Amino acid sequence: MTSPTGLNSVEGLAAGLIAGERRALARAISHIENATGFAQPLLAALYPHAGHAHIVGVTGAPGTGKSTLVNSLAQDYRRRGLTIGIVAVDPTSPFTGGALLGDRVRMRDLAGDPGIFIRSMATRGSLGGLAQATADVVMALDAAGFDRVLIETVGVGQSEVEIASTAHTTVVVEAPGLGDEVQAIKAGVLEIADVFAVNKADREGADRTVMALKMMLSLGVPDKHQVMHHGRILPISLPPPAPDPAAWMPPIHKTVAVQNQGIGELADAIEAHRLYLEQSGTRQLRDRLRAATELRMILRDYLLGQVLDRTPAATLEALVSAVAERRLDPYTAVRRLVSAPTSAA
Ligand code: GDP
Repeated sequence: MTSPTGLNSVEGLAAGLIAGERRALARAISHIENATGFAQPLLAALYPHAGHAHIVGVTGAPGTGKSTLVNSLAQDYRRRGLTIGIVAVDPTSPFTGGALLGDRVRMRDLAGDPGIFIRSMATRGSLGGLAQATADVVMALDAAGFDRVLIETVGVGQSEVEIASTAHTTVVVEAPGLGDEVQAIKAGVLEIADVFAVNKADREGADRTVMALKMMLSLGVPDKHQVMHHGRILPISLPPPAPDPAAWMPPIHKTVAVQNQGIGELADAIEAHRLYLEQSGTRQLRDRLRAATELRMILRDYLLGQVLDRTPAATLEALVSAVAERRLDPYTAVRRLVSAPTSAA
């Protein structure tokens, strides 16, 4: 056991976390979330110990049953002897200091199991944006030795897609009767799906949702590598996608999360995708893409922070006014901010 004072140093926290101590893990995550002075050195100390967990993103519209599904999936994985970290991200709810809605269900079913660790994240101060904070917390869980890390996000916007794209395997959850036949089209998350879950399969219309997905898949989904490559700004050299006839076709699984139906099959599909990534060499490519995405996010936040830190508030205000009143275009304003920060206006 790490002594309590051990938890008051970066080294002690990192050692405790890597040894699998929950208290050290919980405290380390608080430092990361709150962007304390410990955060960056901690992340640096943990980074070499991460890279073993398989990271699974679960995304979908509100009410499709993601929380329930993640809950059931975690229990299924536990029965397989695997340890599970869960990060629930809800960009739509401000941080209240308490548990998010879905947590109550989770706490009831999963609390007390040392093989499960759950953390909720919502918008608040962190080193970078929510996406980066999530990636950092996932990395800490990875370094702590969890076999699978499940990231649950509400699939409503670009930032959620960004969060989901930090996963190795992305599960897109659909449900019948939410107005649209398939919400994925609208949210633009189709391209990132590796596995589809049509949840609430006990409800009328589930087969229509499955059909709609099948039809869309048969029309062809743009190559994921290309999508991710084009979506990212950081120029990195990527090996050309291997011409593989056995390319992954996202399977569609019907589930009834509240009754634990179809969950084993869904977990099997995730594991099959994990094997596919490893055997095809795609996992390496994804890890490279994840590294590129992460570098880009941190670089963006870092440069933005630097410019804002050295720019007097009055200067910024003056520039905002000039742009708002169309005396200055925003591109010129940015150039002035970057090149002559103290006298930009
Ligand atoms: P989330 O917003 O996507 O996280 O959805 P929740 O997991 O909170 O579930 C929303 C509601 O749907 C809850 O009342 C669940 O009990 C219910 N629900 C979840 N899965 C199923 C299912 O498979 N069938 C039915 N009928 N209801 C479900």
